[in-house]
Amino acid sequence: MAKLTICMYGAASDNIDSFYITETEKLGEEIAQRHHRLIYGGGATGLMGACARGAARKGGTIIGVVPGFMNEMEPINSNCTEIIHTETMGERKQIMEDNADAFVIAPGGVGTLDEFFQILTLTELRRKSAPIVLFNINGFYDDLISFIYVGIEKGFIREGVRELFHVCNTAPEAMDMIEKTL
Ligand code: AMP
Repeated sequence: MAKLTICMYGAASDNIDSFYITETEKLGEEIAQRHHRLIYGGGATGLMGACARGAARKGGTIIGVVPGFMNEMEPINSNCTEIIHTETMGERKQIMEDNADAFVIAPGGVGTLDEFFQILTLTELRRKSAPIVLFNINGFYDDLISFIYVGIEKGFIREGVRELFHVCNTAPEAMDMIEKTL
């Protein structure tokens, strides 16, 4: 199949169980082994760093999209094969969204949740049409998924939103889902 650009969102935090790190490294490996490209926030830490590390291990193409101010705060991940510098966080999000054929959301904090809901909203409003996979390592997103379903039952979230994202527990499952959908 044609080479896809996979946008990965996920935690910057390193203060997490090693299980999440290992599973996300596998995601990076899986992306590269299937000859797809990774585009992500360019961070070296947490699950961002883990995904890039996995992809690098298998010789993958890794595009980091980094706003200037972050550059000054921390080093850019040396595993990136290409860096796109942006002025603002907004511009960075836009570049990741515009270039991605699919989105994988690994466990994360408010940054990751913001990115998930932004892409979900854009998809709901038909500004973007690309598979969205919640990478539900260790059931991390179970409560969030239940909450979305509560929102649907109570009429706050449209029924159709249920179909706008997939939930996958392993890296091969996530990539199979994306390849099957596209
Ligand atoms: P969080 O989930 O709060 O850890 O934020 C991680 C998400 O926000 C990633 O998907 C990145 O796109 C972005 N982000 C937050 N902090 C950083 C950072 N230090 N370096 C690169 N990207 C970051």
